[in-house]
Amino acid sequence: MECMKSSLQTLLAVDSDNVKAWLKDFCKRNGLLTLSVLSVVVGCLLGFLLRDMNFSDQAKIYFSFPGELLMRMLKMLILPLITSSLMSGLSAMDSKVCGKMGLITITYYLWTTFMAVIVGIVLVSIIHPGADAKTDVERVSGGPVITSADALLDLIRNMIPSNLIEATFQQYRTQLIPVVQPVTSGKTPDFVYLVPDEKDPTLSKPVFLELTPAPNVIYKPLPGSSKEMNVLGIVIFSATIGLLLGTMGERGTPMVNVCQCVNECVMKIISAAVWYFPLGIVFLVAGKILEMRDPSLIGKKLGMYAVTVVSGLLLHGTVILPLLYLFITRKNPIPYVRGLLQALVIALATSSSSATLPITMKCLLENNGIDRRIARFVLPMGATINMDGTALYEAVAAIFIAQVNEYELDFGQLITISITATAASIGAAGIPQAGLVTMVIVLTSVGLPADDITLIVAADWALDRFRTMVNVLGDALAAGIIAHLCRKDLLPSDKDILISKIQNLPASEIPLLARKDRVFEVLGDVVTEKPAVYYNIAQV
Ligand code: ASP
Repeated sequence: MECMKSSLQTLLAVDSDNVKAWLKDFCKRNGLLTLSVLSVVVGCLLGFLLRDMNFSDQAKIYFSFPGELLMRMLKMLILPLITSSLMSGLSAMDSKVCGKMGLITITYYLWTTFMAVIVGIVLVSIIHPGADAKTDVERVSGGPVITSADALLDLIRNMIPSNLIEATFQQYRTQLIPVVQPVTSGKTPDFVYLVPDEKDPTLSKPVFLELTPAPNVIYKPLPGSSKEMNVLGIVIFSATIGLLLGTMGERGTPMVNVCQCVNECVMKIISAAVWYFPLGIVFLVAGKILEMRDPSLIGKKLGMYAVTVVSGLLLHGTVILPLLYLFITRKNPIPYVRGLLQALVIALATSSSSATLPITMKCLLENNGIDRRIARFVLPMGATINMDGTALYEAVAAIFIAQVNEYELDFGQLITISITATAASIGAAGIPQAGLVTMVIVLTSVGLPADDITLIVAADWALDRFRTMVNVLGDALAAGIIAHLCRKDLLPSDKDILISKIQNLPASEIPLLARKDRVFEVLGDVVTEKPAVYYNIAQV
């Protein structure tokens, strides 16, 4: 009996030790992610609980303050991350490999975006959400909207920023300025007949007021700007500099070193900032819910439309993209997507793929082991031009608006929608509700009233979150696929072999190392090749 008791005690002790060790390990690996997911749930609950308290606008601003700080932190990192990643990433690659990778990346991005549009078109044609919404949706008359030709030209202008500093805080946007045209002569003026006493019109003489004919207001497109960073211009400029640095050899090294150091610092800031995220997310999500209009009303009016968009996003994000990853890489996509969960939660909370970029980068490098040269090129590029979720949503929204207007779209118009939705998603910035702005390209291309964007505005803040998640997922899976396709071209360079050797050495080891006749200077994670004559060589 005694013996049994003692063995039971030992077993329990071993078991509780195991549980403790498992818990510790779980917290270490998934603690932050679990906290982030919990904070989305807590944020939703808090938001819905506090909605009844009818906070004043000022109180809502104070309440959302911790969330605002989170957004500011992420936005602060976008510029240094994009420039340093692209410059250092591309400079480390052979120009032939760069060209191949660029071609594969752009083809893959276009192809998946087009697939997303097709999924959207098929679903919206089957579900036909516009039929139920015809009587319910409300129209708000909006302002004038620019033509799709102007919108496309703006996109091309933004690719070549005229001033780089300006590109960091604003981008080109054609603006429509109202111009009042003088009344054309010969037009007879209108009169208004006023009855002086409505109850007894015979009391005094009627009065006629002369009205000048209503003036013609035309909208003239003029150069203007919007207060958003021109990420596309910065990406193109940084990629070009990165490519050129790669061809400059020794002379480009100082600049590459600077970029690598900046990149390393940004990644360190991200690692520290992630511990603030759970708190920020709670207030970001709750603050948005407080600002939201009556959700049940929106649900009634736009419910089927929202269901169509969300099912399309689910199909594309959880079936099509992972299957593509599976077929191309022959690897299980589940562990890969698990490594990205933190980035997906941030995308859900911020609705901005640009703001999520630092976290996506961190997840790919630390959890999924993607080659940093690939991640540094594919991710910033993807956050700017690859938006599968946005493209899918734009196609669904355009066809939904056509259905509400009982406007029959023929096959040619469906093709036009698929092409313009792809282009519009490329032009959309990675910021909240940018897709709504570029929708005008899709609508005007098939002759739908651009004003009708207002039909779908009410549900957009929520759908934006889900499409941003798919945008981020698309970029990250693309990095995995491109890393697989380019694996032979990216065999570890001498530098990488050296870095891995150095990482196994104590930190206090000599900073100058050499392999054969080549000398490298090692500063933390940054390794630069130096002319051998200047240094004492210590063999590794
Ligand atoms: N919010 C989306 C993103 O940042 C863009 C959009 O669809 O509005 O990716």
